[in-house]
Amino acid sequence: ANDHESIKPMAETFFIFDTVVNVKIYDNRATREHFNEIEALLKDIDSKISRTLESSEIYQVNVNSGKSAVKVSSETFELVIKALDYAKRTDGKFNPAIGNLVTLWNIGHENAKVPDANLIEAARTLNDYRLIDLNQDTQEIYLQKEGMAIDLGSIGKGYAADAIYDYLQEQGFSSAIIDLGGNIYAMGQKPGGKMWNIGIQDPDKNRGNSIGTLQVEDKTVVTSGIYERFFIEDGKLYQHILDPETGYPVDNGISSVTVVTKHSTDADALSTTLFVLGIEEGLKFIEDTPDTEALFISKEQKLYATSGFKNMLNKTNDSYTFAN
Ligand code: ADP
Ligand code: MG
Ligand code: MG
Repeated sequence: ANDHESIKPMAETFFIFDTVVNVKIYDNRATREHFNEIEALLKDIDSKISRTLESSEIYQVNVNSGKSAVKVSSETFELVIKALDYAKRTDGKFNPAIGNLVTLWNIGHENAKVPDANLIEAARTLNDYRLIDLNQDTQEIYLQKEGMAIDLGSIGKGYAADAIYDYLQEQGFSSAIIDLGGNIYAMGQKPGGKMWNIGIQDPDKNRGNSIGTLQVEDKTVVTSGIYERFFIEDGKLYQHILDPETGYPVDNGISSVTVVTKHSTDADALSTTLFVLGIEEGLKFIEDTPDTEALFISKEQKLYATSGFKNMLNKTNDSYTFAN
């Protein structure tokens, strides 16, 4: 019954984490019930790691900053450990303690505008990731300074993609596209044993326009781009990845960074990390990261890619040219 000619994917769209989530299972055994389970799984993750949901574990950690440690689930605990690993590796440029700045800038939400400099300064003094205490024995998280706030927006969608992948695998599925607002997992192969073609968004065009396609199997493809969430004030674009040192959006000539690897949690953290590091430092960083490929697209429409990425990319847009 799973002859590939007769396979029609079963798909469902959810809206969660401020993101359109689309899951397509290429298997005739997929049922409505599987999608109900996926929805429950997404809600469960949100109830653990959301910064804004008052009942979430991270929310509780944040409101108890400077007061008391909060016991969290092992999932939340491990994800914060992972985020802190990237913070250490980048000397805090990737920073899960950036919650105050994220709230202040409010980028991607209505009425976002450049905040007062003194407010940026105040938020900046509350983003020291070294003040996040983790107690392995009790699974408690304690933020040492009152007002501090963890934000896992840079890693949460990747984490959710991995969770859906694991669920589908448990259910015996081996062919699916999991897409959380451009944070993609191309699970297994296409029916018929072909590779997936994943479009790389043209950062200067509307959604759906690509610079080319990436041929992958059983890999995650995650992009951080200036077009994802932003606002424009006085002709200047303010995007949603912030420089913890200055308190302002990173403005380093990058339009987008795409990462390809096995685990989406890593890819999500890495796409944000490479974006803040910039092209030169980012390319060095990715060289030291095994089994991971990356593409930087600059505002000048230049492409900087690892050799492995180039091999997977079928570039179809001539406005973009390789710089390396
Ligand atoms: P997207 O939200 O489009 O998936 P990213 O994965 O790159 O994009 O994550 C960006 C989000 O990460 C921001 O919206 C914010 O919540 C958070 N963030 C912003 N700056 C940083 C930073 N320097 N380090 C870690 N997280 C950040
Ligand atoms: Mg992301
Ligand atoms: Mg990310």
